[in-house]
Amino acid sequence: MENKVILVTGASRGIGRAIAKELSEEGHKVIANYNKSKEKAEELKAELKQKSIELDIYKADVSEREEISQMVSYVLNKYGKIDVLVNNAGIDLVRVFTDVTDEDWNYVINNNLYSVFCVTQEVAKSMINAKQGLIVNISSIFGQIGASCESIYAVSKAGIDGLTKSLAKEFSLSNIRVNSIAPGLIDTEMNNDLSEEDIKDIEKEIPLKRIGEPKEVAKTVKMLMECDYITGQVISVNGGWYM
Ligand code: NAP
Repeated sequence: MENKVILVTGASRGIGRAIAKELSEEGHKVIANYNKSKEKAEELKAELKQKSIELDIYKADVSEREEISQMVSYVLNKYGKIDVLVNNAGIDLVRVFTDVTDEDWNYVINNNLYSVFCVTQEVAKSMINAKQGLIVNISSIFGQIGASCESIYAVSKAGIDGLTKSLAKEFSLSNIRVNSIAPGLIDTEMNNDLSEEDIKDIEKEIPLKRIGEPKEVAKTVKMLMECDYITGQVISVNGGWYM
């Protein structure tokens, strides 16, 4: 496959980091966005540098339109195009529904859904002009099946899947494919609040009897880059937890 210019949001840690690493190692030009974890982003850059791979890291809060706009302009000015956008950045909030405040709602929706709307809007203009592109949105199993005490998170992820399907239709004439990847439980810092016992209990419910690795989501992004006939889909990467 010809080398692509790929923007990955939230690539300092967890799943986004694995995606940035995997695609960089495949020879693509990756711009890894981060917000708070500058050291982690620099650490990944240094790790890849040892393999003579140049990772471009860029700080932007993807819940802020102005910062997104500056990031996208930076990438387009430097590389002339964005072939693949991976909307991965996200946060979690565990709270009983009746305790959720307006601030909580805005925090989750701005970081998880408004961010995807905004980054996609800024990047799509250049993809439409180029008449090509791939957008991969990282949603969640909880957007598909709901989640007790994580209702606003589930709303944000279900919203992403709705946006994915709508844009797959709207952008098809511009030769832009749009898909979601809905991971199940993946071993990242997002799940640090789960005890070993919690995880063992969840693993019992998963047909493959284990939680997933960030690299397994990264490989799914690679698969979507390779298979030109997939658009408008929510690809579950969940060990069979929901089917
Ligand atoms: P994580 O380990 O907590 O990492 C989250 C990443 O998102 C970090 O790199 C963080 O960057 C970035 N981020 C958060 N808010 C941001 C913002 N406003 N602007 C820019 N970057 C931001 O989480 P993860 O498990 O890798 O999750 C990645 C995605 O997968 C999320 O969308 C999550 O909802 C989804 N997901 C995860 C699981 C799971 O079990 N882990 C399951 C389903 C879906 P900084 O630290 O630099 O701020």
